Amino acid sequence: MTSKRCIKCGYESEKNKEKFEVYLCDICHYFSPNNSEKFKDYISEKINGAVLDSFRKYASVGEKQKKGMISQASKGKVMSRVPFGYKMENKKLVPAENKNEIEDIFQEFLQENISLRQLAQRHGLSVNGLKKILTNFTYIGKVKFNNQVYEGNHPALISSTLFNHVQNKFEKLKNEKQND
Ligand SMILES: [Zn+2]
Repeated sequence: MTSKRCIKCGYESEKNKEKFEVYLCDICHYFSPNNSEKFKDYISEKINGAVLDSFRKYASVGEKQKKGMISQASKGKVMSRVPFGYKMENKKLVPAENKNEIEDIFQEFLQENISLRQLAQRHGLSVNGLKKILTNFTYIGKVKFNNQVYEGNHPALISSTLFNHVQNKFEKLKNEKQND
């Protein structure tokens, strides 16, 4: 028997379904987009499997679970895995010892003429890992789930102003690359 691991939340089950050559559990499958580019983004945002456990008791996935999960996110519950710069304490997301590195990364990206690759190397990250950090709403105290952004229950590590400036520069970089 081969176990099929959900690529988004890590849940293992024989019943996991294949989609675009990877496996997804029922719940992650239910939320997944059908466009292959969007699908790539979707599976790159890992979700904390424990968050989903209370929703697995139903025999089939449907609007009920979807509503339940959206409701949790809308109450500020972080659905993703613990992001760099945070740690879990008593089931709450709190700043970790390396929290200041997050502000450094955002500032350096904004103020220096540095490539993503160089910046990633400086902080011991992969380029993809760096991209995820630079676009992660968790750092301004918010929760992004199912393409919606909600007010979180955890502390921010950087200001919204800094985050927004970084999003603008990030978008510009992306567009420049596409026009090459
Ligand atoms: Zn899953």
